[in-house]
Amino acid sequence: MRMTYEGWDPVLAKIISCHDNVMKWKLCHREELSTWVKNNVVVLGDACHPTLPYQAQGAAMAVEDGLVLGLLLGRLRSTDAIPEQEKKAHINSVLKIFEGLRKKRTTTNVKGAIANRVMFHMHDGPEQEARDSELAEVDWVKPCRWGWADPGYQKKMLGFDSVSDTNNAFNRWVTKNGTANQQESVNGEARL
Ligand SMILES: Cc1cc2nc3c(=O)[nH]c(=O)nc-3n(C[C@H](O)[C@H](O)[C@H](O)COP(=O)(O)OP(=O)(O)OC[C@H]3O[C@@H](n4cnc5c(N)ncnc54)[C@H](O)[C@@H]3O)c2cc1C
Repeated sequence: MRMTYEGWDPVLAKIISCHDNVMKWKLCHREELSTWVKNNVVVLGDACHPTLPYQAQGAAMAVEDGLVLGLLLGRLRSTDAIPEQEKKAHINSVLKIFEGLRKKRTTTNVKGAIANRVMFHMHDGPEQEARDSELAEVDWVKPCRWGWADPGYQKKMLGFDSVSDTNNAFNRWVTKNGTANQQESVNGEARL
């Protein structure tokens, strides 16, 4: 590593000289898992959708996962439409709502980061030149083949309302599975 950076800024050489050893830190992603839920156990964040850091959304997705999961479990706990003694038996079903809401969106994010890797890491040449001239035309209004610069993709990823998406899904579920006092759904949503 010291040899690689020979001749660079002396500050960098000084920093590198302080290390006794270095390790390569691989950046990893993975194919979409078939499920995130087993019985009453669920995985979230990088444990189920690790992504390359080329879209700056991995932690954002993990936080969104937490929001959606917390909201769903909170709605299950507070609903009057399910008798208290039956709630535990519905946890798996609610975890599956979570998976249904999150898997597609996080997979889009993982794939977007892979696409950005291609875009960011092009070697000099005709492909890079074509990319540069396309990006020079970006006006954040017309569509662009690069998600990073495509307003539709940006809106889909960054303008998404996870809270109403989750509340709508829970409302549909409780309407189908609840036994009493459907009014709670409305009140429950209003409280959030
Ligand atoms: C270089 C780089 C840049 C990034 N930039 C961004 C960015 O700009 N924006 C963004 O949104 N995301 C970014 N990310 C992604 C982001 O860091 C991750 O998506 C996020 O940290 C995932 O959070 P997590 O809680 O799921 O997992 P982690 O942050 O990995 O947390 C898991 C925790 O569990 C602990 N742990 C593991 N095994 C055990 C065990 N057996 N017992 C107890 N504890 C255990 C680990 O030590 C760790 O603290 C970047 C990632 C990288 C690598």
